[in-house]
Amino acid sequence: MIGPVPDAGSVQYDRHLIILQDRQHPRDLMDTLVHELLHVIANDYGLFEDEDHEERVVSAMASGLIQILVRNPHLIPYLTERSNAENLYHGSDERTP
Ligand SMILES: [Zn+2]
Repeated sequence: MIGPVPDAGSVQYDRHLIILQDRQHPRDLMDTLVHELLHVIANDYGLFEDEDHEERVVSAMASGLIQILVRNPHLIPYLTERSNAENLYHGSDERTP
């Protein structure tokens, strides 16, 4: 089976909670977490009316993103560094009252 097992994760929107089955291969766990995060984004932006379509798009995007992250291990540190630099920039912006 490719990707995480069914019901490996879920979102409880009312509790702002993502539930993950922890008995997964670490890579499947990463995929499941990203998968559920993409469901949250899709829900927040109202992207899909068809649940099957959402599931196919979310699954493909999660798997693709995990492949990109695994093949480019410097990507997350790079983004984190940019994020920290952005925070420093806004934190030291003297034009802000
Ligand atoms: Zn899903």
